[in-house]
Amino acid sequence: MNVPFLDLNANHRSVQDEVLKEWQDVLDNTYYILGPKVAAFEKAFAEAHNVKHCHGVSTGTDGNHLGMLALGIGPGDEVIIPADTFIATAWGATLCGATPVFVDVEADSYNLDPAAVEAAITPKTKAIVAVHLYGQPADMDPLLAIAEKHGIPLVEDCAQAHLAEYKGRKVGGIGAIASFSFYPGKNLGAWGEGGAVTTNDDKLAEFVGMFRNQGQEKKYHHKVYGHNYRMEALQGAVLGVKMKYIAGWTENRRKVAAYYDQHLAGIEELQLPKHMDYAKHVYHLYVVQAPDREALGGYLGEKGVATGMHYPIPNHLQECFAHLGGKKGQFPVTEQLADRCLSLPIFPEMNEEQMAHVVASVKSYFGA
Ligand SMILES: *Cc1c(COP(=O)(O)O)cnc(C)c1O
Repeated sequence: MNVPFLDLNANHRSVQDEVLKEWQDVLDNTYYILGPKVAAFEKAFAEAHNVKHCHGVSTGTDGNHLGMLALGIGPGDEVIIPADTFIATAWGATLCGATPVFVDVEADSYNLDPAAVEAAITPKTKAIVAVHLYGQPADMDPLLAIAEKHGIPLVEDCAQAHLAEYKGRKVGGIGAIASFSFYPGKNLGAWGEGGAVTTNDDKLAEFVGMFRNQGQEKKYHHKVYGHNYRMEALQGAVLGVKMKYIAGWTENRRKVAAYYDQHLAGIEELQLPKHMDYAKHVYHLYVVQAPDREALGGYLGEKGVATGMHYPIPNHLQECFAHLGGKKGQFPVTEQLADRCLSLPIFPEMNEEQMAHVVASVKSYFGA
């Protein structure tokens, strides 16, 4: 039996008829970029996250860039970023000419360690970026307290955390500004590239709206510098349709995770992800740790179970950041995770038989 890492075909089939109708509409109305489909999606997405403003943009990476730009981050500034995250979190800062300052994460939540953040703050620190890694919100209260104490904004990278909650509040409106990704494999995926920027701050929202669209306040009135970071209508239409189903898909992901939690518990050498009390985890990924994850991944592959690694090389050890002087051993939690992490298949359409096959295969590897 084969269990894919995720099954985009199954997901697409479930909405295909509705999306194709919407796409016909786009072809007919000829608003190919932004326009009513994107506006309708932005409204639905903002409502679902209980946040005042949402701008659809070209990618999550561009969303990270826009967030930093809106906050006025520039050359000479430092931005605190977890060492353990997808590298695009750091591009927001680097694209503005700022320096990413990596810090370690917590062993239980895999998210920013507030003590490490506090220790990394210097007079040059101009923002802290919390990533809600794998779909579990970071511990925002202590991070917000640090941000407030130093008078700097806390930014959210929500690329993996659509609809996730921290103490009952949806992500995307907890910090000063937030970005989301709609890369096809994300919890809410376009049929191509897509991203969003959300905020409760009118001024930041106004800037993002202008910068993404050539710095325009209105047509041919360019109030600020800009770029073309607009969302395409075809993607806005896909996302608008998918908004009707994302809550159900999220519950399905949580059911798969609960099944793994229950059936994989008690294997001594296997560390399961920890669900923090303050979080509603949306399980973009289900990441376990094992002493020899290459061997476990290889064995699962032979059993037809696809796996992934998120992320095998920490950011401070990436070649592109060598000039920052990152050293092996600098961030023990991140480095241990990088050596031991293995992501098991998880997607909303996963059936009982597939889940049982993953569990049986993992157990047979450990002789459990
Ligand atoms: C996917 C991802 C991004 C980038 O999103 P794109 O839409 O692919 O540009 C940024 N940050 C994190 C944490 C991600 O997982």
